[in-house]
Amino acid sequence: MLFGAIVTATAQDPQHLILVSIDTLRADHLGCYGNWEAYTPNIDTVARHGIMFRKAVVPCGRTNPSLASIMTAKYPNEHGVRSLSDKLGDSEITLAEILKNNGFTTVFVNGNTLVGPNSGFIQGFDIYRGPQGGYVLETTKNTAKNKKSKRKQYQNRRSAHHITEYVYSLFKSLAEPRHLFLWTHYMDPHWTYDPPSPFDRMCRATDMNAPPPELTERQLRFNPSLHAKYNEYFKAMYAGEVAYTDYHIGRLFRFLFDENVMIDSLLIVTSDHGESLGEKGFFYSHGDEVYRQSLNVPLIFWWSEQPETNQIIPDPVQTTDIRPTILQILAVSAPASLANRSLLPRNGTPCDRSQIRFMYAETGTWRQNADTEKPYSSYRGKSYMISNGLRKLIAKSGSGEFTYELFNLANDPGEKKNVIGVNLPQENKLKTMLSEWIVKSNKTGKTEASPVSPEMIQKLERLGYIR
Ligand SMILES: [Zn+2]
Repeated sequence: MLFGAIVTATAQDPQHLILVSIDTLRADHLGCYGNWEAYTPNIDTVARHGIMFRKAVVPCGRTNPSLASIMTAKYPNEHGVRSLSDKLGDSEITLAEILKNNGFTTVFVNGNTLVGPNSGFIQGFDIYRGPQGGYVLETTKNTAKNKKSKRKQYQNRRSAHHITEYVYSLFKSLAEPRHLFLWTHYMDPHWTYDPPSPFDRMCRATDMNAPPPELTERQLRFNPSLHAKYNEYFKAMYAGEVAYTDYHIGRLFRFLFDENVMIDSLLIVTSDHGESLGEKGFFYSHGDEVYRQSLNVPLIFWWSEQPETNQIIPDPVQTTDIRPTILQILAVSAPASLANRSLLPRNGTPCDRSQIRFMYAETGTWRQNADTEKPYSSYRGKSYMISNGLRKLIAKSGSGEFTYELFNLANDPGEKKNVIGVNLPQENKLKTMLSEWIVKSNKTGKTEASPVSPEMIQKLERLGYIR
């Protein structure tokens, strides 16, 4: 790729912002985050020449709350989007609105129907392309295989191929903008995992056992006793979806270089949440818990004037701070109340990440039927998390009183050994801080999900959240 040459060829502030978010992308499923089985050369190249945050955590493992936090620089309890069905309010001032008011042409190319029209996410955008509330046949995906399968097929999203093609077509009709904000939201790593050839055989392609087609959706998803060999198959297919998405993101990058847009751009690659992939007993969902598999996402910045390339930042950060970082790098002013903490140095000024030592997160709203989804019934209600990157306390609100788990991330990054009760002073401090945050949360934000429309129920069903 051309990143090295570009870095030395220009020395001016970024004029454009390219925000690439990939739905359901775990950080540890990218090569640049140390996964040697991943095939993600394009995102890895950005990381190699950019600034990569090793511990980036979302404030909620669900699409709408998490993306709203990027757009508003607020936690879900502050912006009010706490479930998939909550609308981002018009009173919120979004990143798109700030940039539009500063002369940017704002474009959103979206693959996820839940953040389309009526979600509140297109406020501030001059141009929107994506699912318009309907569903699009993914003609580029395994059509022949899909026809044979008896499993329910979801056709509720644009594929990565479509997203990149939309950008191509938009540029044909778009007058050259002085400042451009392009947000592309790719959707493919979200269930169902069904990458087209050859991506379905690129990752962990050996020893895979595809489940027989007569198994129902219910027998495969949300099934804690799913056979390990099928879980291995789905993990490989998930990795294939990530590789497929990376391929089309690479096409997007090359196109933007050819159009002379990338050279003047700040580029950000991130995700709205991770995916369970069978860990902690959760199969193929996210946001029902606050473990690392739902919360830890990639976060990579690249721009031509950045102080150094190939920086890996070990400090824990949250995606709520993406927006202030963007505004700082683009030198866009925002009202003081909207200014927040930037994650990066600028013009020799060191950034102050000391204010970001504690991260918080909450679950989405649980929508499964407790009677038929007994394995997860203990996760009903909101659960919460606080972490400073070294320790992580989880408060689960399953049946009334909180139950707690504590993990020592310094020697247990996989969150496997619950050490609650071992160090009481330390534990009590975190409990107090988390309790204060929860109380504040329930005073300042909504605690209940909005009434759900029939149209929204249909969308949630097609994404597999309810049935
Ligand atoms: Zn999502």
